[in-house]
Amino acid sequence: MAFLNTVLEPPAYGWTDELGNLSKPTNKQIVKEFFKRINVFSDKKNWLSFLSWTLVVALVPFLGLFIFKYFSITGLIVAFVYSMIIMGTHGTIWHHRYCTHGAYTFKNKFWRFFTQNLTLKIIPEEIYAVSHHVHHALSDQPGDPYNAQGGFMYCFLADVNHQPIARNMDEACYKKCVNLMKHTGVTTNTYKQYQKWGTLANPTRTIIGIILNWGFWFTAFYLLGGPALACAVFGSAGIWAVGVRTFNYEGHGKGKDMRRDGIDHNREDMSINQLWPGYVAGEWHNNHHLYPKSARSGFKPYQFDLAWCYIKMMSMLGAVSSYRDSKADFLKEYCTPVPVIVPVAIPVKEILVSAE
Ligand SMILES: [Zn+2]
Ligand SMILES: [Zn+2]
Repeated sequence: MAFLNTVLEPPAYGWTDELGNLSKPTNKQIVKEFFKRINVFSDKKNWLSFLSWTLVVALVPFLGLFIFKYFSITGLIVAFVYSMIIMGTHGTIWHHRYCTHGAYTFKNKFWRFFTQNLTLKIIPEEIYAVSHHVHHALSDQPGDPYNAQGGFMYCFLADVNHQPIARNMDEACYKKCVNLMKHTGVTTNTYKQYQKWGTLANPTRTIIGIILNWGFWFTAFYLLGGPALACAVFGSAGIWAVGVRTFNYEGHGKGKDMRRDGIDHNREDMSINQLWPGYVAGEWHNNHHLYPKSARSGFKPYQFDLAWCYIKMMSMLGAVSSYRDSKADFLKEYCTPVPVIVPVAIPVKEILVSAE
């Protein structure tokens, strides 16, 4: 626990106030911290956060071209499916269930690479995965990087303000951090490189990886449907990249207790099952907090889980070699009907007969 308490770089306003409660910064403080932490000119260790938002900004021209030059209803449908369903589900499959929770394993490095690059690369793995371990360890408590009680902006800008790894780790702690990412295939910095760049990821490798990934997908969509399709897909990916930053606030009830009886069985934190993120991305978040290491989160018949469909399909194809599925445990624990003892009435006549 101590490691997860200190693995993230604390914001200037701290995790707690002087009484030990959650430090709730104003929106002004949050925005100020955001611009301080993406400023690569003041500190090159800000490079990963800067890069992450630069990628979002780089997608805006594609969105503009799609809306003002290439707009069509077909393009709109493609944009919707790509941003909401494909990008969303991929985030669950790759960043969430694989990189963070190790809910399944790949047969080999090829299938891991294939799954990693199924969509446009926008969110750096380490920003998501390391901080997400902290989110599970400290859900809705001070130190939770996207504590919904901190407010919308606290969660929306969390990837810069609260999710990057700490910069003052000693070698032993850094090693633990490397271990968290080992299975993902992300080549990590040596301790000396970390001291220079403040991250697990290496800047050159990361940037080359993104250029190759974007180049591949732009060419593929361009060949498939010309600039109109390429702009619809790239523009919509930008919308997803912004929209996904609102999930953590809503997935934990927007700072309120929105858990419902019979739906949100986990009462250890404020996470809730929501239909939209559930259907488009397999994010049945309350279920997920119950069984974080399960490769499936949709447990009830109506809880369709597209991310699980992909993992299961890959397993049937032999690309996924093992997975954990907690559906049976969930049903046994939360959906087994309690046996009702029905009193049986014995006719008076029979009692009299047996007494004779
Ligand atoms: Zn959560
Ligand atoms: Zn999780």
